[in-house]
Amino acid sequence: MEAPAPASIRAGRLIVVSNRAPFRVIQQGAAQRIEATVGGVATTFLHLLERHGGLWIAWSGGVETPAPLKVPPGDPRFAIHFLGLSERQIARYYWGMCNRGLWPLMHLMPLNCHLTTRDWNDYREVNGLFAARCLGQLGAGDTVWIQDFHLALMPALVRRSRPSAPVGLFWHVPFPPADILKILPWYQELLRGMLGADLIGFHTGAYASAFLDCCEKLLGATVEREQGWVRGPSGATRVGSYPIGVPVDFFRKLSAAPKVRRRLAQVRRGVHVERIVLGVDRLDYTKGLVRRLQAFERFLEENPEYHRRVTLVQIAVPSRTRVPEYLNLTRQVEELVAQIVTRFSSEGWLPVRYLYRQYDPEVLVAYYLAADVALVTPLADGMNLVAKEYVAARSDEGGVLVLSELAGAAVELSDALLVNPYNIDEVARQLKRALELDPGQRRQRMRKLRLAVERNTLTRWSQSFLHALRAARAANNLTPARAGPARRGP
Ligand code: UDP
Repeated sequence: MEAPAPASIRAGRLIVVSNRAPFRVIQQGAAQRIEATVGGVATTFLHLLERHGGLWIAWSGGVETPAPLKVPPGDPRFAIHFLGLSERQIARYYWGMCNRGLWPLMHLMPLNCHLTTRDWNDYREVNGLFAARCLGQLGAGDTVWIQDFHLALMPALVRRSRPSAPVGLFWHVPFPPADILKILPWYQELLRGMLGADLIGFHTGAYASAFLDCCEKLLGATVEREQGWVRGPSGATRVGSYPIGVPVDFFRKLSAAPKVRRRLAQVRRGVHVERIVLGVDRLDYTKGLVRRLQAFERFLEENPEYHRRVTLVQIAVPSRTRVPEYLNLTRQVEELVAQIVTRFSSEGWLPVRYLYRQYDPEVLVAYYLAADVALVTPLADGMNLVAKEYVAARSDEGGVLVLSELAGAAVELSDALLVNPYNIDEVARQLKRALELDPGQRRQRMRKLRLAVERNTLTRWSQSFLHALRAARAANNLTPARAGPARRGP
């Protein structure tokens, strides 16, 4: 059994719970240490945990479940608890309900949904396992911060056993309107599970508003729209928008690092063309890669003067390769790339460079800096961090962002060239406009975008969520039986 955490970290600890934890365990002799694997979100939570003390609970990822890991090993500030899941649970909870059920549903793509009672039962069971582990560790004064749609039922499970614990849920994906949510046969259970939280955060006001609608229409709950409160069966829940930011300093520093500058020179030599257009995505059907490639093809058809002068560099990170929809997409994207290359390339010029792999941030930033235009055109996306990272990396105020108006990021980044990603002609037109924007306009747009990104960093996001969570908990404490504020606003 694990020794209890030192008294110094018992008071007011933070318990972060997520399906996966974005770090890997590195074995160094007998000792183990962890390393953040992707982006800034992991690093931010690690810093938060270092500051507050506490623990991070996450599925081990299908490998052997290591014992709880104390970080840093000499003077532990927090611990990481890995949860082991059975093969059956992984197949049904993770690959089934999360990846083939809830993911497409939340992204408004019901035709890609596979919803089975068998998978839902395991989803329920695994939420119970996460809740049990959390409850076993939860001390007086601790705050629970649950991440994302994998764990929608967990807030109510924690609430049931610990009515006064502050519980927050952040929903990293969009939230669909009631008519789409109703496709899920267990929509009431999902909503009730979420409503166990004191605070539910979304990236945009539109997602928060869709959630409030669902609570009103599908649960008959009392919704106080102006203030963002739901009075659900298990008490009052505050609902609001807390758009996630990126670690701006990290990207600013990286963009000036000698290693990145060397890589930038290499990229420019390698691609060897007047203008570079960049796409960076996980290979996911929500990211709109097929339509983006079709739009680029349209652009080349209509603008022969750009032949031999522009190349689309598309970084596609392999993702969920066990899921049939993703295998089909991979094939479709490869075929389209081949079609464009066959149709347009000429000696010394490749119109599309397709890079099917994941890069570390240094290389990614070199590509961000090389890109005259970033083409970020998801069909639906909770936020889209690539758009914000591109802006954060461009301390030179160069580059133009073409951004889908259907990404959460479009709310804050309204100075990008906004496009409807379904409208191939429009994307092709805006790409041309981006390439021809005069330098003054380009700089002005990028400057405004940078201000927006600097206003709302990743640290600020986590602080404002935790602050609002404490306020929501305090409001609930004031009212008996979590009845919530009696009547607020108009
Ligand atoms: N990313 C990366 N290497 C790559 C491509 C992407 O580390 O080769 C990171 C990128 O920096 C960003 C994240 O993956 O932080 C993608 O986040 P986004 O919100 O754009 O999409 P998601 O994949 O989370 O749906």
